[in-house]
Amino acid sequence: MTQAIATQDPIITSDSATFTKLVSKEGGTEYDLLPINICEETFAPLEVAYDYDKIRHQVSRETIAAGPNSIWRYRPFLPVATDNVIDVGTGMTPLVKSTRLARRLGLKNLYIKNDAVNMPTLSFKDRVVSVALSRAREFGFSTVSCASTGNLANSTAAIAAHAGLECCVFIPSDLEAGKVLGTLIYNPTVMAVKGNYDQVNRLCSEVANTYGWGFVNINLRPYYSEGSKTLGFEVAEQLGWKLPDHIVAPIASGSLFTKIYKGFQEFVKVGLVQDKPVRCSGAQAEGCSPVAQAFKDGRDFIAPVKPNTIAKSIAIGNPADGVYALELAHKTGGNIESATDAEIIEGIKLLAETEGIFTETAGGTTIAVLKKLVEAGKIDPDETTVVYITGNGLKTQEAVQGYISEPLTIEAKLDSFERAWERAQTLERLDWQQVLV
Ligand SMILES: *Cc1c(COP(=O)(O)O)cnc(C)c1O
Repeated sequence: MTQAIATQDPIITSDSATFTKLVSKEGGTEYDLLPINICEETFAPLEVAYDYDKIRHQVSRETIAAGPNSIWRYRPFLPVATDNVIDVGTGMTPLVKSTRLARRLGLKNLYIKNDAVNMPTLSFKDRVVSVALSRAREFGFSTVSCASTGNLANSTAAIAAHAGLECCVFIPSDLEAGKVLGTLIYNPTVMAVKGNYDQVNRLCSEVANTYGWGFVNINLRPYYSEGSKTLGFEVAEQLGWKLPDHIVAPIASGSLFTKIYKGFQEFVKVGLVQDKPVRCSGAQAEGCSPVAQAFKDGRDFIAPVKPNTIAKSIAIGNPADGVYALELAHKTGGNIESATDAEIIEGIKLLAETEGIFTETAGGTTIAVLKKLVEAGKIDPDETTVVYITGNGLKTQEAVQGYISEPLTIEAKLDSFERAWERAQTLERLDWQQVLV
């Protein structure tokens, strides 16, 4: 067995650091800023606490705008003690004002936060991993790891490679080929576990307790999850230092969903934006929707489920922050909805055809839920609504295979092209007739 901390002098905090302690989400017991994630008394998750007066003195709209073009422009809000952070250009992804999707759905002020193009591995996970591994280095971990549904393994492997850290990741053995290859290319050790994510996660908790490794989403989880706040910060800044009226985001463990809101609240707390209500609505795949189910049933607890959906990146049957996601939707007047696999595929295609953005199954889920909420009158057409697209479609190509058209193979001759073009026009007309029937 190795020690929990690899070097003799872990950097736990510094004079300029704005984060002060870890606090239990149930009962409020305080802990030192160590690589721990569970309250010993209540078994609740631990969360990073900050000195907001200190942050207020360190930041202004101007200092942020003059900062790096990455999540590190919000450095005082992130739990890293030194300036020696891993900056691989993560964050500051486009916030796109939607025209064609908005019109299709009947919305007037729809924005798309496009983390399908986040750096370096094309999902929002690069945010949380950039923070977690920066913190892991301060603790002196030489080997980093994660329990992943796919995107987290990509991020951990890539950013560990950049930082020169040893890396061993754990994934369920049935992941999409693009997610597996997109991890292996960075040459970490990859453990493909015969089981679902929840089983992978349980195994990793045991490994984390035995080996002295930094697991980004286990013993480093309090630091890791803070990275998701940047999805709130960026949207507020990109809207011209204003909060939106309504957000729609996917829920797997519920961490991303709840931290976007924490980000909004922190900007209010330090006076960077004006306070106003923000409704938070969550999206799950029907084949793994323990939080949406609890919302529909009016329960305040989560009944774990066994995942069965094409949306593997958000297939967590026993979500660690599920109750907090549920609470947030209730508290803010939002909703939590689910989408079937067929609706998820339609969602992927709808976003691609109307906005030119190719998202993965998690994004398809979010778009499908956005559409449902609009149709049910749960999103007002005038509300400034931000939909979060968290991953890239090139990684989950098998999800849409068989649901998109084939290329028309032709000879390298004009008449061959002309016949094919005529056929294509006819097919399109037939398509339209079907729609009209
Ligand atoms: C992990 C993931 C999520 C959800 O993350 P949680 O913080 O666990 O809720 C959403 N979208 C994509 C693409 C992901 O990889």
